[in-house]
Amino acid sequence: MTDELKNPNIPVPAELEGTVTITTLDKLYNWSRRSSIFPMIFGLACCAIEMICAASSRFDLARFGMEVFRATPRQSDLMIVSGTVTKKMVPQIVRLYNQMPEPKYVMAMGACASGGGPFKEGYNVVSGIDKFIPVDVYVPGCPPTPQALIFGLIKLQEKIDQQSIKSVPWYNSDAIEAIPIPILGPDLIDPRQGSQIAREMAVATEAEA
Ligand code: SF4
Repeated sequence: MTDELKNPNIPVPAELEGTVTITTLDKLYNWSRRSSIFPMIFGLACCAIEMICAASSRFDLARFGMEVFRATPRQSDLMIVSGTVTKKMVPQIVRLYNQMPEPKYVMAMGACASGGGPFKEGYNVVSGIDKFIPVDVYVPGCPPTPQALIFGLIKLQEKIDQQSIKSVPWYNSDAIEAIPIPILGPDLIDPRQGSQIAREMAVATEAEA
């Protein structure tokens, strides 16, 4: 059994080491999840090419149990948002996120997904995917190298290691609400900002009258 699981606070007699491991339920639960993260096959722009490189034999994602990229959100644990997030794509991204089962994680790969990148002020680009879905790890760069992506994946593993089966939201009695799908019209509308939009419209109408 891996040394990662050993609880250093409870020593095992030397003659039993290699045969007996004492651990905690949290460690076992997190170790099994962090060692089998299935990312979704999903790419938006140039960063996706680096993500594809990271999945090649040279970088060997199988070391982390992450080599199985799934072609469906239903079987994916991790969404790597790799590329420029256009307004046109946001409804699809949020829909895919909603279709992933818990526990699920999101990584913003590259400057575009993290904050808009070189297209930040563009009429058709959003300033980071975290405006719409929660992001767990940001990987900087334009584009980040496969090594940087792997570093981000290791950071995600460290984040998973800190979780506790007692407090993770997916076992709480309150159901986790799906994120409302943004509406694409002449511009992108986030339904969660409905009341704010109505307030601002009322102010503008008053000012005109
Ligand atoms: S961050 Fe750079 S490399 Fe990545 S999608 Fe944006 S422009 Fe392309």
